[in-house]
Amino acid sequence: MRLSFAILILLLPLFAQAQRPLVIQGVTLIDGSGGPPVLNATVLAVGGRIVLIGEGGTLQAPDNAEIVDGKGKTLIPGIINLHGHVGLTKGLVQAQENYSRENVLDNLRTYASYGVTTTTSLGTDMDLVVGVRDAVNRGEVPGHARVLTALQGFTTPNGYPTQAPGVKGLALEVSTPQEARQHVDKLAEAGAELVKMWVDSHHGAFVKLKQAVFTAIIDQAHKRGLLAVAHLYELSDAKLLAEAGLDIVVHSVRDGEVDRGLIRRLLAKGITYAPTLTREQSTYVYADLPAWLDDAFFARSVDASVVQGLRTSLHQTQAKDPEQQINRENFRVAMRNLKKLSDAGVKIGFGTDTGPPARFPGYFEHWEAELMVEAGLTPMQVIVSFSKNSSEALGIDRDYGTLAEGKVADMVLLNGNPLGNIRNLRDIHAVYVGGQAVDR
Ligand SMILES: [Zn+2]
Repeated sequence: MRLSFAILILLLPLFAQAQRPLVIQGVTLIDGSGGPPVLNATVLAVGGRIVLIGEGGTLQAPDNAEIVDGKGKTLIPGIINLHGHVGLTKGLVQAQENYSRENVLDNLRTYASYGVTTTTSLGTDMDLVVGVRDAVNRGEVPGHARVLTALQGFTTPNGYPTQAPGVKGLALEVSTPQEARQHVDKLAEAGAELVKMWVDSHHGAFVKLKQAVFTAIIDQAHKRGLLAVAHLYELSDAKLLAEAGLDIVVHSVRDGEVDRGLIRRLLAKGITYAPTLTREQSTYVYADLPAWLDDAFFARSVDASVVQGLRTSLHQTQAKDPEQQINRENFRVAMRNLKKLSDAGVKIGFGTDTGPPARFPGYFEHWEAELMVEAGLTPMQVIVSFSKNSSEALGIDRDYGTLAEGKVADMVLLNGNPLGNIRNLRDIHAVYVGGQAVDR
């Protein structure tokens, strides 16, 4: 019996809902664990998870599978970003009025289109992000990066960064350990996975979060099963936060060279360090009118009017910024500290602090990877940082991070091999979130 054409059309949406198995054949697989690449691998994903990884074409593809020829291509894990912000920025303006489901999704779509399959939004969120996060994870809004959230981060009354546009009222300004613990409880009930603290005087301009307060925040976070992460600047604060049990350092130490004392604490407690080198660059790079403003890989996600703003008003602001020299020095210190910590065996995670104005989701993750290589890491170390290490830091490594049987198929198919040249990370053939190709 032949199914009539009309009935077939009616049934199509039902078929479309059931995801076809995905087979990528004959590909070079870099699984993110740091082990040698598997040549001529075949990867089968069913229902959004990797169910089989075969070698040398030994895999029998299911009849209805979508088959992708991976010859000459490289399959890597999707990028996991430990430090971003979503929803607050439109163009070059950061404001709470911008924060909407639509704008959060817009950021997550941009991340995904560049191969960032998970980001972490650190301390400037509204509660609606929780619904967006859950919708992405349930597969209801395909083509978007996953997001973990700290909801609202902690600082002191009028502390850094409450003066930044759009942040006042989002950052929690706390004075006492008791007050801090109550807020951590509320964040846990609202669905946060992490708590974020800003511990930074911003070159002496602000009062910092007191040790007794951040110690209480970290302790309460752990009692509630949340991770504790900190924005910091000074080596001495990094040591105190490490002592207090911090889980992830989400910026570089920038006031001087890291020493044995910090290395010992980071190693002893298994603390992950995510350097956000592009964040340092973003504070002065527009003074230099970088060549990448003309790069098609940058411009594909950025409005021409925004690029114009970078070339004119932001260029002028940064060119006459009295802190320009100190910002440049901070970047150089951050680069040296990354190499020293990596060589010492500290677990290096991957973070950018993208999302605020002039820190562009997607493009900056690629630039971050390139800067990490410039700092002296190998491309393999960078891949491990954004897959294995970042998934472990976030406690999501059971399902995400490396590419292995049983894990979610969040992955990027590249036309070249990034081990020879990290810039091959830009040459994306396809991005998969939960085994589904992202529209790019
Ligand atoms: Zn940040």
